[in-house]
Amino acid sequence: MMPPHLRFRRRSFLGLLFLFSLSTSALYFIYSAPGIVNEYLFMVQARGVRIRENVRSIGAQVLEQVVRSAYSNGTDYPYDFSLNETDAPSSPYLPMGFTYLSSDVCPERLPTMKGRLLVDMSERSMEDVERTLLQTDPSLLIGGHWKPQDCVPRWKVAILVPFRNRYEHLPILLHHLIPALQRQRLQFALYVIEQAGYEPFNRAMLFNVGFREAMKDLQWDCVIFHDVDHILENDRNYYGCSDMPRHYAVQLNKYSYMLPYDEFFGGVSGLTAEQFQRINGFPNAFWGWGGEDDDLWNRVQYAGYTVSRPLGEIGRYMSIPHHHRGEVQFLGRYTLLRHSKERQKLDGLNNLHYSPVVSRRRLYTNITVALSRDLALVADY
Ligand code: UDP
Ligand code: BGC
Ligand code: MN
Repeated sequence: MMPPHLRFRRRSFLGLLFLFSLSTSALYFIYSAPGIVNEYLFMVQARGVRIRENVRSIGAQVLEQVVRSAYSNGTDYPYDFSLNETDAPSSPYLPMGFTYLSSDVCPERLPTMKGRLLVDMSERSMEDVERTLLQTDPSLLIGGHWKPQDCVPRWKVAILVPFRNRYEHLPILLHHLIPALQRQRLQFALYVIEQAGYEPFNRAMLFNVGFREAMKDLQWDCVIFHDVDHILENDRNYYGCSDMPRHYAVQLNKYSYMLPYDEFFGGVSGLTAEQFQRINGFPNAFWGWGGEDDDLWNRVQYAGYTVSRPLGEIGRYMSIPHHHRGEVQFLGRYTLLRHSKERQKLDGLNNLHYSPVVSRRRLYTNITVALSRDLALVADY
């Protein structure tokens, strides 16, 4: 029989061993499951805020129901209502049957933009999506290039999608996004920038490549940086640009439809070509998950812009659930983010070299590019 003091020691040794293995696996988890820990923390925070908000807004919600029922005229227009929004929309959505001349600039708030969309996350093949979209509108050209015939498009928009090994996501995105852009009467084309090679994923560098390549096709005046797994839930989320850089993916289901933090600029964002050039594009130095969108936010601020966002539930998105398939967090991001300002003029559109392979597909242009660190060298700062 072991003396009690030794028993105690052995137990505490085992306890320590247990705690140690728990903390190493937690560290491993944090490192290897980027986003999940953030998501969890945001959710906990979001739930707390939401309970408080619900209590406060209960009267407002009753009112909303009254307005909704008074509003129902057979269409499924959700009533845009949010207690947090102080600035009301500047003009109303146009009524059904509103007519405009084909020489007019397309209105921004068309009757075709119905509001809340039905999101269908089920897997589908690219061929199915092509068939359905072309049956509905045969004027959709190769590369997913489309422009309205009944008015002059207000914006020429290039949609850039960074991509590697997310084949099941792309058809789901195109199935929802293309009809919404058509209803918004924008001129647009889609570019999928696919990373080749064995380096960690570099979302930001892919966007820089996509921007430079898209600009060779046409003088796009607005560029949208769009994650492949973000499906818009509201077609009033207008994909034109504005006088300020814009953040579209404001309320994500994975963050309980709350902005995870005020400076969040991820998922879907957009700048005019001029704004993007002025901030020297994205940084090229973020290899792996995280931080590149925060750096873009910093660049936008340093250039003297503020960020605009859609109001209330218009900015809702569902993100397709996925694993990170071996992608790791970029742990060096905090160091780089401390130097966003100095790096802005040294690293971005201006120091990037690459050799793309461009192929035109039915619904998008594919730009495949092997990325490596020597493609964007940065002088000392
Ligand atoms: N992405 C990709 N393949 C990868 C990693 C990222 O195509 O292996 C693209 C894709 O467009 C994705 C975006 O980069 O939506 C953001 O990455 P991720 O979805 O991993 O970020 P999270 O969902 O954790 O925010
Ligand atoms: C990362 C961002 C990411 C955000 C939300 C931040 O910690 O730096 O890149 O978009 O979390 O997941
Ligand atoms: Mn994702």
